[in-house]
Amino acid sequence: MSVASEAVTDALRELHTRFAGLGDGQLADHIPQLALADPDAFGLALFSMEGHSYSTGDAGATFTMQSVSKPFVYALALAVLGLDEVGRWVNAEPSGEAFNAISLEPVTGRPDNAMVNAGAIVTTALIPDTPGAPRFGRILDCLSRFAGRQLDVDEQVYASEAVTGDRNRALAYLIRSAGPLPVDPVAAVETYFRQCAVRVTTLDLAAMAATLAHGGVNPLTGDAVVPEPVAAQVLAVMATCGMYDASGDWLLRVGLPAKSGVSGGLIASGPARFGLATYSPLLDPTGTSVRGRAALGALSERLGLHLMHNPALAGSTVTLITTADDLPSARTGPRALARHERVAVVAAQGALDFTAAERVLYALDESRPQETGSVVLDLRQVTDIDSVARAMLRRGLGRLVEGGVRTAVADPAGRLAPLPCAGEQDEAALRPFASREEAMTWCASGLAG
Ligand code: GLN
Repeated sequence: MSVASEAVTDALRELHTRFAGLGDGQLADHIPQLALADPDAFGLALFSMEGHSYSTGDAGATFTMQSVSKPFVYALALAVLGLDEVGRWVNAEPSGEAFNAISLEPVTGRPDNAMVNAGAIVTTALIPDTPGAPRFGRILDCLSRFAGRQLDVDEQVYASEAVTGDRNRALAYLIRSAGPLPVDPVAAVETYFRQCAVRVTTLDLAAMAATLAHGGVNPLTGDAVVPEPVAAQVLAVMATCGMYDASGDWLLRVGLPAKSGVSGGLIASGPARFGLATYSPLLDPTGTSVRGRAALGALSERLGLHLMHNPALAGSTVTLITTADDLPSARTGPRALARHERVAVVAAQGALDFTAAERVLYALDESRPQETGSVVLDLRQVTDIDSVARAMLRRGLGRLVEGGVRTAVADPAGRLAPLPCAGEQDEAALRPFASREEAMTWCASGLAG
């Protein structure tokens, strides 16, 4: 066994051992087939952003998605129609009510959110239905891409809900009576039953949760299932509404976007970190797996996974600042030293986002380029620059150039290059130099001797 597998699988095994004896809760029986589930079944799985998977217990056992399908169909609707259009028909407010509450927003007639049944039925209805691409085909294809393998429907569970699902049909009729929805929720409710009956394993659900955490790209297959902004929107609604009337308490204690389903599946996503899933069919009164809730709560606490948890900032961004004070010129006068020694230098490392870019710009100020008349920003150890950081750095460097500072960047990988820069006046200043030496030589060559 590999060391990674030992470390992560051991943590999952410990949780399995700790909570397998928890016998509280009830099997769902409003869909009669679900009452036939094995009450002892208990699986746990985790997917990393690199697609490494870890699991224990009954992680390969199959069960139906039920409400865990809702965030993924919502993702599909958002990807096809956009947030503004979807938001016209489904709000994004926590309802504080049970998943199957008969309730719509007073004035607009919209369901509160896409995680409760009313909102999920509308969301399903919004998925286009065309002869070449029927609604359910689109949904099954999307769910399969999230999972990274072809999924299918448990026809027995579907038939069971089709017989007993009158409450959901009543909701669909209520929705139709309440507003000008451009599609028919009464027809869509049958599709909603089918999406709830899509069969998965705990490992599938962990891959699906990981795909949301990974900006909509399945970490296993590399398939871009939905755009990154859509994945973020879905995680936001899962965080506020995914656990129904227990969502606030869940976010407070566990701190992860999550979604539960009445067959006993439960997912949680750590943005940019992991996808987690559990399966255990005994449910608490909110319709959430008792063992799943306990296991994810304990795991979050033990591994420090709470979203609002603020760990020390990852590594330092700025590795070097030479300022006008450091330079020999400040002590011995300009004639006593080689010109390139009078160039201020700032070096940065790692991945640069907004926070890191602020550090770099602050360091550029600290290097006192106005006094040296010249500065080099060394980005050779930078591994990535996101678009926000790139725009900030290009703008900051442009300002220095405008202020008369001879400014150069050691950027052999051309990470700053692609975006135009507001206020950019001197192309040479932002030309990538291959090394710090070359950048310094170019700066020094412009300084008066
Ligand atoms: N199909 C189930 C229902 O509508 C889904 C509900 C759930 O999993 N919370 O009752």
